[in-house]
Formats: sequence, structure tokens, C-alpha cells
Amino acid sequence: MLKHIKELEKRSNKGRTEYIKNYLKLAGVSFKIQKFRQRILNGENIIITDFCKQDDRAQLLLTAHTNKYFSSPGANDNASGVAVLLNVIDQLKILNLNNGSNIKIVFFDHEDGLAYIDGSTFYVNNTDLSKIKFVLNLDMVGAGNTVVICPKITNNNGSNPYVNYLLKYLTQKQITYFSFDLPPLLVGDHVPFVKNGVPTITLSMMPERDLGHLKKVLDSSKLSQLVESLITRFNRKKHPMFIMRHRHNDWDTSEYIDKLSLKLCKKIVMDVIKFHRGRSNN
Ligand SMILES: [Zn+2]
Repeated sequence: MLKHIKELEKRSNKGRTEYIKNYLKLAGVSFKIQKFRQRILNGENIIITDFCKQDDRAQLLLTAHTNKYFSSPGANDNASGVAVLLNVIDQLKILNLNNGSNIKIVFFDHEDGLAYIDGSTFYVNNTDLSKIKFVLNLDMVGAGNTVVICPKITNNNGSNPYVNYLLKYLTQKQITYFSFDLPPLLVGDHVPFVKNGVPTITLSMMPERDLGHLKKVLDSSKLSQLVESLITRFNRKKHPMFIMRHRHNDWDTSEYIDKLSLKLCKKIVMDVIKFHRGRSNN
């Protein structure tokens, strides 16, 4: 997976999309391109069609954004999520999963930078959402071994069987996890889905120390959270959290990516797939 990240971090946004398409072609994976124009940007979502029929109900969506933030190499944000999904695709091929598996993998373009969750918003506005059971979005999964989930799990979304399974799974495997709503000025590709009532989480990884800091910030007032968000935006390299220091700047390189984080993330995704297939078969 690190190999993908090293290839992706050298490339422009357009080059990243091309890299993924080429890789899929060579691997014999079929996909559809969903071109869009939102505001001033042309973008392309890549939709893998090998594991899902067009009219499948009860779909599990696995997603990650492909673009990076301006000139940042974008290794953790979000070549890491892309690399994990490419590896998951390889695995599904090895398992010989066909298009009756109800699994759709989608790579979103333009999550941030000049954009604002544009690829996922376009996808949501042009898709029959009633067919989707659950969306698992990966964003920044290349550092640390604790799992963070957005939005916050409440009685409301916590009753979703996939969320339920995931939380039980993490507890069982003794993986530390934490769920929260994004502080002001931050967004993620789960937002347009959640707004439209589709059960969706963004899963990220972070080092345990980062999680400690995050919890402290979230316990503070909205005003302090806003100040924190501004520090994040304008003085990232001084940020107390490792993943924030290496985000949206030239420090977001593969040098800081931990193979074990990618491996753990992939394992979690594969087990969610297993759960999904167990449900579909009943
Ligand atoms: Zn991201």
C-alpha cells in the first residue's frame, strides 16, 4: 500500500485520478467515470462496478477522496485511504467476488482545496440513495493505531447494524476508538450522505497522543474550538497533534506513513465486508 502512496504523492490531482484508473485497468477491474463540474472545477469520481449490479439494493459503499490539498503531497490526506481501497479491491478479486456482492467502491474527486466536498456532493445528488445500506468513508488512515469516527455515534445512528458491528468489533479487538462531530471549518465526505439520511461514517486513524489532545479540545468551548481550527489552518506545523502537523502542507509525505496503520485499516474494512456479506446471504 505504501507503494501506491509513494506513486500518488508525486502526482497532481489529475495525475492521481489517472494513476488509479491505470491501476484498475491493469488489474482487470471494471469501473465507470462520473464526470462533474461544481463551481469552477471539473472533476471525476471513479465508481467500481465489478462487485455490484446496477440495480442492487442493500449496497455497502466504500469510499475515499483522491485529491490532495493544493501543493501538499497528500500522502496521509488522502493517498492513504485510496491505497487501502486499492488493496481491498485486489483482495476482493482474489476472493472472486462477483457483481452480486452489493459492494460499491467509489473514489471521490475534489473533497477540499478549492472545492468543498464537491465529488461526494455530486455523487449524492445523482444517485438513488435508497439502495445504500451503509457508507464507510476512509480519510487519513496512514498514522497511528486508534480509530476515530465522524460523525459522533448517538442513539440515532448507533442503531445502524453496520455501526453497531463496527463498535463491537473495535471493542472486541481492543482497538481504542472515539467518535465526534467535526469542529468548525472542517468537513468530510460523509457530510452530504448524512444530510440526506444515509448511514455514513468517516473512519480515520490517529496516534493515541493525538486522540488525547482531540478529546481535550472537544471538551472546551465552541470559541476555543474555533481558535484551534484557525491555528490548524494558519500554523499547522506548530499544531500539537501529529496528524494535523502533517496535513495540508509539505510535511504530508509517505515518510511519515506507518504501514501498520494501513494494515489495520484494511483489516477493519475487510471485516466490515465480511459482516455485509453475511447479512446479504441471509
Ligand atoms: Zn481528507
